[in-house]
Amino acid sequence: MIKSILARFVIPSKLILNRLKSRLDLSLENPELLVAQCAALSRMIPILYLLLLADAWMLVFAFAGRAPAYLTTHIALLLSALCIVRFVMWLRMQRVQITAERARRELKRTAVLTIILSISFISWALALFPYGDAAGHASVFVFITIAMIGSMIFLWPLRAAAIGETICSVPIFMGYFVVNGHPSFIALTLNVSVVALALLVVVMAQNRQFVHLVTAQIKARDREARIHQLAHYDTLTGLANRNTFREKMAASLDDSDGHLALLFLDLDGFKIVNDTKGHHFGDLVLKQVAHRMRQVCNEPGIVIGRVGGDEFTILLPKRGVDEASAVALRLIDTLAETYRLDDDRWVRIGASVGIAVAPLQGKDVETLLTCADLALYTAKAAGKGVFKVFEPQMETCVQERIRIEAELRDALDAEDGLFVFYQDIVDVRTGEITTREALVRWHHPKRGWISPGEFISVAEESGLIDRLGLFVLSRACRHATEWRDGARVAVNVSAAQLGKGTLASDVLATLVDTGLSPRRLEIEVTETVLLNNEQDTLDDLRQLQAMGVRVALDDFGTGYSSLSHLRAFTFDKIKIDRSFVRHAVDRPDCAAIVRVVAALGERLGIATVAEGVETQAQLDRVRREGCHEIQGYLFSRPMPSEHDAPIVAALNASTRRRAA
Ligand code: C2E
Ligand code: MG
Ligand code: MG
Repeated sequence: MIKSILARFVIPSKLILNRLKSRLDLSLENPELLVAQCAALSRMIPILYLLLLADAWMLVFAFAGRAPAYLTTHIALLLSALCIVRFVMWLRMQRVQITAERARRELKRTAVLTIILSISFISWALALFPYGDAAGHASVFVFITIAMIGSMIFLWPLRAAAIGETICSVPIFMGYFVVNGHPSFIALTLNVSVVALALLVVVMAQNRQFVHLVTAQIKARDREARIHQLAHYDTLTGLANRNTFREKMAASLDDSDGHLALLFLDLDGFKIVNDTKGHHFGDLVLKQVAHRMRQVCNEPGIVIGRVGGDEFTILLPKRGVDEASAVALRLIDTLAETYRLDDDRWVRIGASVGIAVAPLQGKDVETLLTCADLALYTAKAAGKGVFKVFEPQMETCVQERIRIEAELRDALDAEDGLFVFYQDIVDVRTGEITTREALVRWHHPKRGWISPGEFISVAEESGLIDRLGLFVLSRACRHATEWRDGARVAVNVSAAQLGKGTLASDVLATLVDTGLSPRRLEIEVTETVLLNNEQDTLDDLRQLQAMGVRVALDDFGTGYSSLSHLRAFTFDKIKIDRSFVRHAVDRPDCAAIVRVVAALGERLGIATVAEGVETQAQLDRVRREGCHEIQGYLFSRPMPSEHDAPIVAALNASTRRRAA
């Protein structure tokens, strides 16, 4: 009940008060207008006080000796003191930068004080009126008219004061003469009041124009700022755009005597997020990336730029290699943390960084950017998630990779020089070959055999991996149909081939085309694939399993190994990375990992394979730890298919001849 009554009265009265405040220009809704009003008043009000003082003392002289001293000098002194204090205050205000809140307080105070002062001055003058002769009366009349009209003119920037002053002065002024019955003065008062009201209309119009002008100026400035922002900063992240970054870098090179560090950062796996989750989520991730970068690089003087879709540059003035490396490490760690897209979706991406420092590696913007870019390229090629500092030989490495990309494309177009080798995977107990892993090989016309370690990453970066993957898959499936022992074939699939929703249909088409049973195909993926857009990757893998294709987790234990991956997806096989197998004999920690993974496989009903078994001791150890299958040079090296064997032998012979 009470609440409803309160709501009925309090809320409307609040609304009315707020509306009144804004009508009287005293609300904080337009803070810049308040400051502008204050500035305009600080130029006008001191003149008003001088006018009032002069006017008041003229009146004192007119009534000196006629009226009692307390009415003339004493009150005049009191009012003058007040005027002088305010006069000084406003003069001071001209010299300082005031805030909107302070302006609002001053304007409010001025409006109230104007009303008090005008009532005081008019009452004082009217109190003197009975003591005067005709000239004295005229002086009172002139005093009040000047005070009233003067106040109105000088108070035009503040509507509240001008209106308040008129509303209070006119009735007192007119009321006095009406009550005291001075017909000639009543007529004069009426005349002055009409002039005052007309003047008020003019003052209001001028005030409106002032408000209009200030608002237009604010809008124009905001628009200019917006245009500046759009032209110089990236709209999505608010970071400096390419041009601004270059300008700031050039300025920094001048300011810091050419001493600075430049970081070139590229996100790993962002493209997949953007392609599979959509641009909306891609943008969300980029915003979070920018936010995290700002948090890491929060020292004054540091400039962060977005120079491409997922490319960023960071300028560290007056820093060297060590500081830049520390920042790069922090950025890589921070950006590798999970990004939340919504309540039940998250992604993980990474970052690689290239570093160049001035003046060591260059003295101008262009050279430094090129060096940092080359270092970034090398970091990406080194396996991503790392940083590299520029070294002169990087230039040749990059050129080499570009050449490899072009030549690999040619090899794929002509299907020339590319082979699939097979390495046996053997059952520990029976010695039977259960699977053969398909491993791609490339015989380069000039350089001979190039290891997949060298060209797979080039294929992944250039997008050639899809074509290369299909080539290996179809060759492997075709060759497997010719194996008399019915062993499975295991085909490696890169992270870049997953999460796009195309792998399962490619595999199905190949199986149909070659006539290989899905049960004889195994797809090997590494843990890294589970880091990017996990859900889409898992969907691809589930589709494969639904077709009857087995899915193996390759190189387990390296990189981002996490047992959570084993919960996220039911793999058919875990392949323990050869780095653990190699040291399983001489290092207890490696032996422990082999043991734990083998035991886990046993419990979950997943086959475990020890990779890279080269010696009898290693074989004994992994067998003892409980691994089901083994792969390694001890049993077999990767070999060409029966069909390719003579061609490979001929290629090897020609390479040997050339070498001799
Ligand atoms: P991976 O899938 O772990 O393949 C096993 C690698 O270990 C092969 O190297 C194989 O030759 C090597 N290996 C096998 N037994 C031993 C051993 O006893 N000792 C030593 N030191 N090494 C052994 P490779 O053929 O050079 O392949 C390297 C990596 O390249 C593969 O690792 C795989 O990740 C990738 N790769 C190979 N072929 C393909 C392919 O067709 N597609 C994709 N996406 N990746 C491939
Ligand atoms: Mg493999
Ligand atoms: Mg492996």
